[in-house]
Amino acid sequence: MKVARTTAAGSLELAEAPEPPIRTGEALIELVYCGLCGTDLYKLADADRAPGEVLGHEVVGRVIASHADSLAPGDRVIAPHHAPCGDCRLCRSGAETMCSQFAENLLDPGGFSERLRLKARAVQRTVRKLDDGLADEAAAFVEPAACVLRGIDRADLRRKTPAIVVIGAGSMGLLHLLVVRAVSPGARIVIAEPDAGRRATARRLGADTVVPPDAIADLADPAKPQAGADAVFDTAGGQRAFDLALEVTRPGGRVVLFAHAAHDARVSFDINAVFRSERQVIGAYSGSPAEQARVLDLLHEGALDPTPLVTHRLPLDRAAEAVDLCRRREALKVLLHP
Ligand SMILES: [Zn+2]
Ligand SMILES: [Zn+2]
Repeated sequence: MKVARTTAAGSLELAEAPEPPIRTGEALIELVYCGLCGTDLYKLADADRAPGEVLGHEVVGRVIASHADSLAPGDRVIAPHHAPCGDCRLCRSGAETMCSQFAENLLDPGGFSERLRLKARAVQRTVRKLDDGLADEAAAFVEPAACVLRGIDRADLRRKTPAIVVIGAGSMGLLHLLVVRAVSPGARIVIAEPDAGRRATARRLGADTVVPPDAIADLADPAKPQAGADAVFDTAGGQRAFDLALEVTRPGGRVVLFAHAAHDARVSFDINAVFRSERQVIGAYSGSPAEQARVLDLLHEGALDPTPLVTHRLPLDRAAEAVDLCRRREALKVLLHP
């Protein structure tokens, strides 16, 4: 079967791989779509990782063989790659994505593959069947939208009309816009983005205010403590975005860090902007099966439609082109297919 595997030069190339045999409790799917994600790009840029890896975890597929009671050939499914144990101290305290079992990749070999083996724990915990009416393109967003929903939950939006700022209008920034709208329809959403084309997309997708990052501080008036955002989602990362995020968060509000950071990345900040103003800085990492289930409900209900974020659909043999498109910021979401 064909796979797109990582190269030493930090890109993807087509290769042949043996089809993985399935055992009791497992299933084999053929790929329909796998989204190329910022995490894949982050891993591709990591010089410490050995080449030859099959990445990809935003998987929609069709079951072609099953040794599990819950799945039958022909079933159309989503197959997120991580599952918590559900029973350890971290899982019981709501930190499921920190569970020691969560890191295991339950997809063999990975999403950028013609066919994939779903390990038994994936079949039990994360694989879900799709209703006939749901588009494959929409289902490919269950995993990334669950990550976004986790951050939104952690922001604990209590008001009916929360003031939200999203820093960055790449695919994850725009997905924040759409998921916030789906779960908090009265939210007022400001997006800060340097690229004019992406600002236009953010406006088209329903952001209330879209500004370049330099202009965003003008929106918050420090003389009025009720002004400023209840929650800021930083999908860009780095010192400048962090400074902006703290600056536009109201006293007592929350900054949610969503972007991947390099191993030794640091920021500095004014301690009183957190201590004296009771702001909270929160991390949100990945999504749990509960969040994936809620996203699937939002998609099935029609409350969430992320398909406008799909800018490209490319076959696996053009995976390198997909990587280039994302690195040049010419694509939002690229979906790869066999
Ligand atoms: Zn992802
Ligand atoms: Zn656990």
